[in-house]
Amino acid sequence: MKLHEYQSKRLFDTYGIPVPQGEVAETPEQAREIAARIGGPVVVKAQVLVGGRGKAGGVKLAKTPDEAEQRAKEILGMEIKGLPVKKVLVDPAADIREELYLGAVLDRAARRVALMASAAGGVDIEEVAATTPEKIVTVRVDPLVGLADYQARELAYGIGLRERATVRQFVGIARALYRVFVETDASLAEINPLAVVGSEHQLMALDGKIVLDDNALFRHSDLAEMRDESEETEAEREARLNGLSYVELEGNIGCMVNGAGLAMATMDVIKFFGGEPANFLDIGGGARAEKVAAAMRIILRDPNVRVVLINIFGGITRGDEVARGIVQALEEVKPSVPFVARIVGTNAEQAREILQAADMMTATTLAEAAQKAVELARA
Ligand code: GDP
Ligand code: MN
Repeated sequence: MKLHEYQSKRLFDTYGIPVPQGEVAETPEQAREIAARIGGPVVVKAQVLVGGRGKAGGVKLAKTPDEAEQRAKEILGMEIKGLPVKKVLVDPAADIREELYLGAVLDRAARRVALMASAAGGVDIEEVAATTPEKIVTVRVDPLVGLADYQARELAYGIGLRERATVRQFVGIARALYRVFVETDASLAEINPLAVVGSEHQLMALDGKIVLDDNALFRHSDLAEMRDESEETEAEREARLNGLSYVELEGNIGCMVNGAGLAMATMDVIKFFGGEPANFLDIGGGARAEKVAAAMRIILRDPNVRVVLINIFGGITRGDEVARGIVQALEEVKPSVPFVARIVGTNAEQAREILQAADMMTATTLAEAAQKAVELARA
């Protein structure tokens, strides 16, 4: 689950990371009032859950409340990367001297949280990582010790900070960011830019991005409440409410699989035979008919889907339950696309009977099922 910039910055604030003291507006009039309260130049920023808002015109400076209202009006009417802007953050404008980057991510290979810093902040950090990786300094944190001061200083010196006060402030921010990451069960906590502002060269988090681990959200009801349902697609919402893992992709072969590993393998085999999966969808272990029907509805809502490939390995999941779910969904949705099902394992025989009675194509191996699906997608 992604948090909005304003939500991330409020969290940062509670951890002592300096942030601009702005407010959120849903109308141009509110933006004007906030700007008037701030009483100086402001920056009006689109609150959508995608990066690169600056480049897309979603971040604009305004000198007066009138201007803030105007900018808010423009931005609130925008769509950024397909997402309509429904809120803007109005922050006091910062006098930026330098833009740095500071982020915490999970380094699975090292089994550690990695803190990364760069002097090339403000811009797309993935771009920096791809083109000039030497501009990123990384330290990995021992989970038992936490972020040590010397590691935070290594980052500070590594990105060229020299003034004692700035280095000291950076160390505090890095430690706080590490705590935010760990205590919220985040998978990403990022400040970009971490700006050097004013003649005093104070550090300030001008942008914030936090991605929370959905599997740990049950431990954070306060954070779970921050979910912005208006930013979810219908499919994402239905998947979440039914406990399904769903990721929409570019291809045209809809996939319904139980188990993340099997779902990945299914996508690989589809590609091996020259096809392209339309989605990753894991219905999980022990899925009952209801859940299967929800999965089916989600897949069929994607207009790119030309065929659906069902690959179920029945262990705890019972094949006949899945088959009944499919038939139930077919009655509800009445799809115009063909289906290929491969169900093996627990109650596979009954599953096949149910599916064949419903005139569905079945296959015994994954290769056979994938080949059929690829052919049907081409037809
Ligand atoms: P993003 O494009 O979605 O990452 O949005 P950011 O919040 O990072 O803003 C993009 C850019 O706008 C920053 O890198 C800054 O250069 C600029 N910007 C953001 N806030 C301010 C501000 O308060 N004052 C000034 N002068 N520029 C700002
Ligand atoms: Mn940014």
